[in-house]
Amino acid sequence: MLTPFRTAARMIAAMAVTLSASAALAQSGEVNVYSYREANLIQPLFDAFTKDTGIKVNVISASSGLEQRIKTEGANSPADVLLTVDAGNLCNAARAGLLAPVRSAELERNIPAHLRDPEHRWVGLTLRARTIVYNPKRVAPAELSTYEALGDPKWKGRLCLRPSGNIYNQSMLAAFIRRHGEPRTEAIVRGWMANRPTLINGDTKIIEAIAAGQCDVGIVNSYYLARMLKKDPATPVALFWANQQTTGTHVNVSGAGVTAHAKHRANAIRLLEFLSGLDAQQMFADTSLEFPANPRAEPSAVVKAWGPFRQDELNVAAAGEFQAAATRLADRAGYK
Ligand code: FE
Repeated sequence: MLTPFRTAARMIAAMAVTLSASAALAQSGEVNVYSYREANLIQPLFDAFTKDTGIKVNVISASSGLEQRIKTEGANSPADVLLTVDAGNLCNAARAGLLAPVRSAELERNIPAHLRDPEHRWVGLTLRARTIVYNPKRVAPAELSTYEALGDPKWKGRLCLRPSGNIYNQSMLAAFIRRHGEPRTEAIVRGWMANRPTLINGDTKIIEAIAAGQCDVGIVNSYYLARMLKKDPATPVALFWANQQTTGTHVNVSGAGVTAHAKHRANAIRLLEFLSGLDAQQMFADTSLEFPANPRAEPSAVVKAWGPFRQDELNVAAAGEFQAAATRLADRAGYK
């Protein structure tokens, strides 16, 4: 008969075996990521994850069609994680049933609630601010205030915008609808259209057009300007934080979700947790020049130089909720 002490010792020994076995399992294996993000931006983060956990990251990169591919592959899809930009795209993938909910205390601790799906199917991993940029030789910052004020007649023939079909603008209009309702959002867009904006399909191209004097103001994601300023600090385009006295600047995310048929679900969750952590967030911020989604990480120096700003803390899922309404509204307002 075993003494109570020996029984306890055996139990502890058995537990140790179980623990080391599960630790070994967790350290082995792989995770498959379908990614829309630039490989040179994301690969260093995956390498760091592999170094940390022993889990190999297999990446399939594309610039379009990954959601369709996951849908077509169905239950046999090798994809464990979908990594993409814009809450609008993340919402669409979730709505199509491609993503499964994940509850993770670590994700919820690292990423503010307004940058996560309220239904837990995706999580923001970087934050992008879509704000006003201008030519400082032709515009004084005191002339700028809000997105809606770009409908003032003084900007006639001076405004550059991306076409309405661009997801960044769709999501921005969707957020405006959530904030202001459709009639007021339509009035904002009609104000812009009355100024006969030049439509340019590319944020970088808009910044270049402003630098070249083709237009004086525009709306772009801040990291495009940060990337240009990093290359050439003399780029003659400045950034203005929109709507600081009112709603805060419109923000969006890049982010990821675990797929509905993930074969490596635990590894996939671990990857998302890793990407939301301080070290990965710091790497993200320094390479992509977006803002870290985890507020404990610091923006890179070129981004920090713009100073802090107040962001609109509306949940970014509004982009998905009002996407169709935003498209119809743009049509009605003559925004091509
Ligand atoms: Fe972008």
